[in-house]
Amino acid sequence: MIKIDEELLDFISHAAKNTHPNEFAAFLREEKEIISEVIFSPFSIFGRNSSTISHFSLPIDVSIVGTVHSHPSANGSPSREDLNFFLRYGKVHIIICYPYNRNDLFFYSREGENLAYELV
Ligand SMILES: [Zn+2]
Repeated sequence: MIKIDEELLDFISHAAKNTHPNEFAAFLREEKEIISEVIFSPFSIFGRNSSTISHFSLPIDVSIVGTVHSHPSANGSPSREDLNFFLRYGKVHIIICYPYNRNDLFFYSREGENLAYELV
């Protein structure tokens, strides 16, 4: 079970709303087995039609456990590009889709399978 800080989810929700209609993307950092921080990549590119995730520069940092990005559409399923990226990096990937509320959050494994999560 993935554990994530409830305040961080609120932060992600706000960040996605503020970035709309562009995509928001960042890395997830875990501390003491709880995902508690997002790290913005200086090289990520926010654009309405770009697949943001492919522009990530990958930091070498063991506390980085995955990624989060927003979908400006109401579709929270990973795209083909997302799935290719998930396989290459990290163990948990969050997609938050429009309108970016609690019900619009989806957690995926490297293989793109739905992961259960717990708020702490
Ligand atoms: Zn995506």
